[in-house]
Amino acid sequence: MSSTSVKIPVLLPLSLDIPFDYVHSQELAPGTLVKVSFRKAELYGVVWDAPTSPSSRPLTYKPILKVCEPLKLLQVSLKFIEWVSNYTLAPKGLILKMVLPLPEALEEEASPKVLVAKDPCKPNLSPEQKEAADLLKSALEAKTFQPFLLEGVTGSGKTEVYFEAIDCVLEKGGQALVLLPEISLSTQWLQRFEERFGFTPAIWHSDLPPKQRKETLRALIQGNVRVLVGTRSALFLPLLNLALIIVDEEHDGSYKQEEGVIYNARDMALVRSRLSHALCILVSATPSLETEANVQNGKYKYLHLASRYGGAVMPDVKLIDMRKCKLPAQSWISPPLRAALKETLERQEQAMLFLNRRGYAPLTLCKDCGERVMCPQCSISLVNHKSLKTLLCHHCGYTTPQPRICPTCYIEDGFTLVGPGVERILEEVTTFLPEARCAVLTSDHLTTPKKTKECIQKIQNHEVDVLIGTQIMAKGHHFPLLTLVGIIDGDSSLSGSDLRASEKAFQLLHQVSGRSGRESKRGHVLLQTYFPEHPLMEALVSQNREQFFSLETEQRQLHGFPPFGRLVALILSGKDNDEVERGARRLAKTFPLIEEVELLGPSPAPLSYLRSRYRWRLLLKTPKDFSPQSLLKYWISRTPLPSTLKVQIDIDPYSFF
Ligand SMILES: [Zn+2]
Ligand SMILES: [Zn+2]
Repeated sequence: MSSTSVKIPVLLPLSLDIPFDYVHSQELAPGTLVKVSFRKAELYGVVWDAPTSPSSRPLTYKPILKVCEPLKLLQVSLKFIEWVSNYTLAPKGLILKMVLPLPEALEEEASPKVLVAKDPCKPNLSPEQKEAADLLKSALEAKTFQPFLLEGVTGSGKTEVYFEAIDCVLEKGGQALVLLPEISLSTQWLQRFEERFGFTPAIWHSDLPPKQRKETLRALIQGNVRVLVGTRSALFLPLLNLALIIVDEEHDGSYKQEEGVIYNARDMALVRSRLSHALCILVSATPSLETEANVQNGKYKYLHLASRYGGAVMPDVKLIDMRKCKLPAQSWISPPLRAALKETLERQEQAMLFLNRRGYAPLTLCKDCGERVMCPQCSISLVNHKSLKTLLCHHCGYTTPQPRICPTCYIEDGFTLVGPGVERILEEVTTFLPEARCAVLTSDHLTTPKKTKECIQKIQNHEVDVLIGTQIMAKGHHFPLLTLVGIIDGDSSLSGSDLRASEKAFQLLHQVSGRSGRESKRGHVLLQTYFPEHPLMEALVSQNREQFFSLETEQRQLHGFPPFGRLVALILSGKDNDEVERGARRLAKTFPLIEEVELLGPSPAPLSYLRSRYRWRLLLKTPKDFSPQSLLKYWISRTPLPSTLKVQIDIDPYSFF
């Protein structure tokens, strides 16, 4: 080491929590991007501002190979990495990997982007929209940074309102980030954006080709992006001049990442906006209970759009009592719904049938011995996809051809398919409406943004009469001729084992209903249910969210569940069930007794076998203001477990499988 060398701590994008020391001829500021050698590879990393942990043996430090000046990460990105790591207990290096997902982007020169600039087209806002937009603008000018909830029924024009806030930020030279749940489905959103602003925003989601992602990352780090729109992972990208974050459909479950670094992008967006002194606007027609609670306790400001834009009225919702309908075998569409479908098509309008089940049938059963065909890698039935002639596991992706011989009783061709998926509903519609032009919309069919765009175009051009789809349909589309929504199984989400089941059901059903009658024609929703007296059904019919919320709030408060308490899930998994169980029981034994923290379990996880691993679960229930991170670190570090077991920590779990 020469006398002029300086020791530089560098954080690398690996599953490591501490930086490594390298040497360089001069000091480098934290945030500087550098290339170093690590083991046998060359990696990009970032100069960190905390010292490395002292090593017990003398080390010879490797030199920094390259300094990527002037490209760097801002101090706020470093702080964000630190914050997310401390909160989720994921190593800092893994968070850095989310900030710089394609480090090769640092190597190439960005090709100058040709932006097709058109004249922006400012919309005419309703007085209600204008009032909301003005409040957002004055918050941006006053730099108060208190988050907003922008709530409005589907079709009330929330997007136009937050577009005004984006416009305000752009005028001042700031950057805006818009998070959307399903970017591949937001062609209509992009169209509206381009019309309003006259340029195309930078786009980020995992289905984009690497070349395009690299270009976007490069443009970001050079400060050449004005508006970035993307799915949850866009939140971590290096925006240099961030002034506004919009989280559209803030209640959506897809903001929660369930693997790797487990986080909720909605919650982390609030943290990032606070660190960046940016304004955060949460947007929803059906806000989550958590967000609602934060409005109640004054943490968020509240904006409400009460009426649908252009005078469109909310659809009327009617329940079909399935206990009174005698359906023939292999039929799931009740006579009243069939009649309504027919009438809708006769009026030259469009209808949508909603069923949150992909494929043809959820169960394949042997008539002789009752054996269900299960996934060999998961404790779950395989779903029959008739169009593909295969059985498919929706959890791990396992596929197998439709079997002919029962593996248990060896009877040939004795399988029967139980229950409907969307493909089976399509089959039923074509039997009683042979003339109807149908389209099935699920993630199996809309595999690329191009296919989605084509399909949406077809619906808009009225080349489709009946849409049959899963929850993928429930998001943000606007089809003026769609006046009937039929919900095949309104009860499916009432019976989930997770604490948010009825909240999610309410949000989903409300959104699906919101697809209908968005312009001058009144929409109708028919909901098939075996529980017409359920409070959720009553709240849907009356479209009384307050009523539903107060019922739900009461339940959560009673049990100390979020948002009135907090949960942490620990999933222990491994190849040997006995070993996993022993590990889970050992963890339960070493749990430090703390008065305010309750330990539930261990018990087999609801999905007790997944991707060939057995799973056991422990749940912690703590008061709302309790930070469980140091307790978790202490507890796990003093409980030695075999290295074959994996412990996954999920702070504020969203799903409970
Ligand atoms: Zn059998
Ligand atoms: Zn599986």
